[in-house]
Amino acid sequence: RLMLRRPGRLSLMLTTGLVAAVFEGGTLGLLGLSVNVLTDDTVMLMEELPDFLDNKLGLYLQNISRGGLFLLLIGFAVGAQILKGLLSYVSMIAQIGLSYELVSDGQNMATGHVMNMSYSEVTKYPSGQLGALIDQSGMISQIVTEVGKASRAILMTLSYVGVMLLMSPLLTIAALVIFGILWVALSGIVKVLKQLSVRAIESEIDTWRWSIEYLNAPRLLRLFGTTEVAKDVIHEFRRKRIAAEKHGAVINAAILPVFEIITVFGAGVFLICGYLFSGESAIKVVPGLFVFVLVFFRLKPQVKMLSDLRLEMAKLLPRLSKVGGFLRIDDKNFEKIGGIQFKRLTSSIQFNDVGFCYDGSDTNAVSALSFEIPRGDTIALVGESGSGKSTIVNLLLALYRPSLGEILVDGSNLGVIDSSTWRERIGVVDQEVYLLNTSIKENIIFGRQNISDLDIYRAANTALAHEFIENLENGYQTVVGDRGHKLSGGQQQRIALARALVSNPDILVLDEATSSLDSISERYIQKAIENMHESRTIIVI
Ligand code: ADP
Repeated sequence: RLMLRRPGRLSLMLTTGLVAAVFEGGTLGLLGLSVNVLTDDTVMLMEELPDFLDNKLGLYLQNISRGGLFLLLIGFAVGAQILKGLLSYVSMIAQIGLSYELVSDGQNMATGHVMNMSYSEVTKYPSGQLGALIDQSGMISQIVTEVGKASRAILMTLSYVGVMLLMSPLLTIAALVIFGILWVALSGIVKVLKQLSVRAIESEIDTWRWSIEYLNAPRLLRLFGTTEVAKDVIHEFRRKRIAAEKHGAVINAAILPVFEIITVFGAGVFLICGYLFSGESAIKVVPGLFVFVLVFFRLKPQVKMLSDLRLEMAKLLPRLSKVGGFLRIDDKNFEKIGGIQFKRLTSSIQFNDVGFCYDGSDTNAVSALSFEIPRGDTIALVGESGSGKSTIVNLLLALYRPSLGEILVDGSNLGVIDSSTWRERIGVVDQEVYLLNTSIKENIIFGRQNISDLDIYRAANTALAHEFIENLENGYQTVVGDRGHKLSGGQQQRIALARALVSNPDILVLDEATSSLDSISERYIQKAIENMHESRTIIVI
């Protein structure tokens, strides 16, 4: 489908390939003719020409010498070959353009797919696995290369077979039998290569997955002295992938010599049989036989290409089916787009008999939960770890949908409200702060539009972060390091609070947001929250 979205390039690739094949067949036909002109009194191929051409050509040919005709035919053959070369080149260029466009189409599609997935869906995949799948989506482009090669090889093969049939139907059948035997002989190899490819792609995805997982935990790996273990795990998956690929390559390497031996053997058989059967007139037949062998040897790379293609597809298909399975949309949950645009909380948020169970869990994380949060109130959720506080926040943020009951926002079911406009009005500070390895300013903005410097200073001030940020070497431009490691836990949490406040949300959710603060900062933040609560609905865990 992606390929059909670019019909211009696709049809250019196919038509130039087709015309090139016709010229290729024409070249060989002309060469056959020219040899016959020199060796035979009755020009063999001339009999095959349609009547109207025969008459005109016949008239013309009567007027030129045999040598002149030979030169003329050779001239045409060279011209046709030059045109064939140019057209093949155009076909290749179209194929290259198409395949690079498909790399980006495929990877953009996969990236978009990941970004559009619902939170509950995307968290099913380890992040490294997502990285690997996005990367592998570029593989789609190889289909173009294979289709391009296949179309050219099939057309050329047809045109060679046509020329061969004109020259000798019997020898053509013999040639096709030789290639047929080769084709069947390769079937077993194709099967083995397919299995090896499945093993290679699975190990490759695992290599990515564990690399990303361990690369994200540099501190823990060193604290627990497990860098060697991490290295070994990653090496082992890579070893499996390389072993499978190497094994495949070794099998592949045997194909070329087998091909060469069988075809050279076949060509020898043609020449010898042709010579023996023609008896007296052997001298006359031999030049024609040489042209036949020439055609046979031009046909060989095309058949080789088709056979390689089969092997390539055997390797490619398992990868594509992994990517295809991932890109399917009918078995995945996506973010709901559209619905009632949320502007501002006017009366209250209500949980009515809400129950929720995470996928794959057999106990409810929350059940029969009812409460109301009037606009402008500050409420606290208190409970022991695992009692379901964060789950309530996840449900409130529409990251998950309740399994039972309903959540009402100003009387409307949260399910019919557009999630992005709803979340825009909520500022969240999570237990675990995630900072990007970029400047403090970028971390506070976090990709959102229409946020002025003044908004940033105001938010940082409220979050009691402005002062310490100004005291850093580069102020708001200071880069915080991987996951913010250059800042203290309390500083990171205050940046996260500024990030939540900068869009001036109606509702503020603080999920143990003061857990990393020292008692003095915590008191400051509590003071800040008290100052804010006039205008905001605040939920504190
Ligand atoms: P709290 O925030 O009060 O510590 P949570 O809301 O995080 O509690 O968790 C409530 C229950 O749901 C716990 O038993 C926890 O194990 C389970 N839970 C939390 N997140 C998930 C998840 N993504 N998948 C499955 N179970 C989960």
